[in-house]
Amino acid sequence: MATERSRHFRIERLSPGVYAAVARDGGAGVCNAGIVDLGSETLVFDTMVTPGAGADLARAAERATGHRPSWVVNSHWHGDHIWGNSSFVGSHIVSSRTVRANIRSLSRRQFESDRRAMRVELRGLDRPGSPYAVRDRPAIRGWFEGVVATPRSFRIVPPDVTFDDGLVLEGTRRSVELWTYGGGHSPSDVFAYLPEERTVFGGDLVPYRIHPSVGDGWPSRWVGILDRISRLRIEQIVPGHGVPAPRAAIAETRGYLVELERIVRRAAAARLSDRDLRETPVPSKYRDWGFSVMFADNLSRVRRLVRARSG
Ligand SMILES: [Zn+2]
Repeated sequence: MATERSRHFRIERLSPGVYAAVARDGGAGVCNAGIVDLGSETLVFDTMVTPGAGADLARAAERATGHRPSWVVNSHWHGDHIWGNSSFVGSHIVSSRTVRANIRSLSRRQFESDRRAMRVELRGLDRPGSPYAVRDRPAIRGWFEGVVATPRSFRIVPPDVTFDDGLVLEGTRRSVELWTYGGGHSPSDVFAYLPEERTVFGGDLVPYRIHPSVGDGWPSRWVGILDRISRLRIEQIVPGHGVPAPRAAIAETRGYLVELERIVRRAAAARLSDRDLRETPVPSKYRDWGFSVMFADNLSRVRRLVRARSG
């Protein structure tokens, strides 16, 4: 395949006709995407955080498969996976009904508030006391600068094809199954399953060696979703963030989510304050995982959920 370099991602061939667009640190792609040759049509999974990265992705998909993408899948409503949608003119955008509703009601507000907050965060990124780990800063900088540079007039395009539980796109070369098992990381998380290739595009349900973000989710339901996914025949996972991974990524994410709840319960038994809980060091197992800035917020979210459940 002729590769023209994008500063937002690199293309990795997973099997003939199936590719991952792996976000580069420092680019304005941020999330990983998938490119699947269905035969006479092409599918793209997730569109990255900026229209610019989305445009590069649309071109990469056409170069890889010979077709402009007809189908674009949105894994969930978060901006880092869908703000490239507007660069896929003429494609159908497909996701669950809940994802569409959330994009319509929440995405513009998320964009406006992220854009404001990220402008401020960028100023303090390298200052002493910055909450961002030094090794995460190039990725964070690319992300925040990408959002800040996106014009406020850009279009947020919601899905125009929706489903409740699942939808199968039957291509002439291969089929792609789209499923949602409900909400774990977000109110509805969609993943793509390629049964013949035993490959999953997992969105944020399965990050790899990156702290999963539970701020908008429910870790216990998320664990149940991962248990269902792990019953599929899978050899390869393209995570929403991190490099393409073996199926063990599912168990690793599950382990992290269970560990969060264990830490919160232990802290409650010891009557730790919220502040002390947030200062819990990252367990050694997860110390080399990226985006450690999320750990404290994850603990706070789990504490709120556990309290609501028992209160
Ligand atoms: Zn997300």
